[in-house]
Amino acid sequence: MNNDIQSVLYSEQQIDQMEDRLAKRLNAEYQNRQPIVVSVLTGAVFFTTDMMKKMDFKATLDFIDVSSYEGTESTGHVTLEHDLKHDVKGQDVLMMEDIVDTGRTLQYLIDLLQKRGAKSVKVCAMMDKPEGRKVDVHADYAGLEVPNEFLVGYGLDYDGLYRNLPYVGILKPSVYSQS
Ligand code: 5GP
Ligand code: MG
Repeated sequence: MNNDIQSVLYSEQQIDQMEDRLAKRLNAEYQNRQPIVVSVLTGAVFFTTDMMKKMDFKATLDFIDVSSYEGTESTGHVTLEHDLKHDVKGQDVLMMEDIVDTGRTLQYLIDLLQKRGAKSVKVCAMMDKPEGRKVDVHADYAGLEVPNEFLVGYGLDYDGLYRNLPYVGILKPSVYSQS
């Protein structure tokens, strides 16, 4: 698996340090509150569980799944694949996302949660790819600013694979051309 990676963009240690910095800010904001942490499946799961262990406040965990991607191209269309177990009405929601690219997924989810009457909706994203943005939306907390490349690892996949790499990297072009 590691042989398919052209270069490592962020090491496991760099990711851990970034998470410490983000957690510090979240711990200040949510000190006496009890948000619902909404993890966006599947990519954000690794980031969410690592971050939650650094959160020093009570929180419930829930999952939502949307799809907007096929291969390495965004289709521009977002559909809800799996819904939350919790009712977010009147609740503080802290959404955990792996990466914000075009922003369409984030916009869709923020709109959905606000429509359902969440008291607040904040977004914590592991990575932000500002050059990819098509919709004017941003994460309230963003860990790493990344270039406009297709990334894998630490939750991010290519065709369902590579999520379990402990770092974030760029795939060798030969991996795409084989499929
Ligand atoms: P957006 O709706 O902002 O274009 O896309 C957000 C979603 O697309 C992310 O949650 C992620 O699942 C996927 N995505 C965006 N950029 C990348 C990338 O570089 N690599 C991978 N594997 N997925 C990405
Ligand atoms: Mg995603």
